[in-house]
Amino acid sequence: MTALRTDEHGDPIYSCARHPEVETALQCGRCDTPICPRCMVHTPGGIRCPDCARLRRPPMYELAPLDYAKAFGVALVLAPALGFVGALLIPGRGFGGFFLILALFVGSGAGTLVAEALRRATSGKRGPVMQAAAAATLVGALLVRAVLGDALDAIFSDVAGLLIVAVGIFAAWGRLR
Ligand SMILES: [Zn+2]
Ligand SMILES: [Zn+2]
Repeated sequence: MTALRTDEHGDPIYSCARHPEVETALQCGRCDTPICPRCMVHTPGGIRCPDCARLRRPPMYELAPLDYAKAFGVALVLAPALGFVGALLIPGRGFGGFFLILALFVGSGAGTLVAEALRRATSGKRGPVMQAAAAATLVGALLVRAVLGDALDAIFSDVAGLLIVAVGIFAAWGRLR
């Protein structure tokens, strides 16, 4: 981009790439395109042209519609599967402290499994939507477990299940951040 002229400090003056009638000394901090106050975008990394502002987020945080569908598919498969396993293996009520410690490991494992399944299905996507998908999968598994055990009305006394889901969400959250 060639300068029109230089100002009194010797800084180049351009005409804005999007508004040719506007003279400006501002340039995009990423691609050096001349920008004016009408089209520049403030970002944490400085001022940007509208194109570069849109590219600001790393691609792993950008979800395409297909990624939403894949994440939804993973939740749809894993929630019943984990809920079924949970209903078979883990008692709902009446267990001691040892079982609570075991629940920490089971929850961490379940959260890791869900997070990795989501990441693989979407080629490594991360961010709030993926975290929400993981949380929804684990809560869904808890609901499935309660329905299978015919204990949906007593879901808040399912201490092991709640603990596993809480630990699972925490583990998945960290992996998908
Ligand atoms: Zn730019
Ligand atoms: Zn402009």
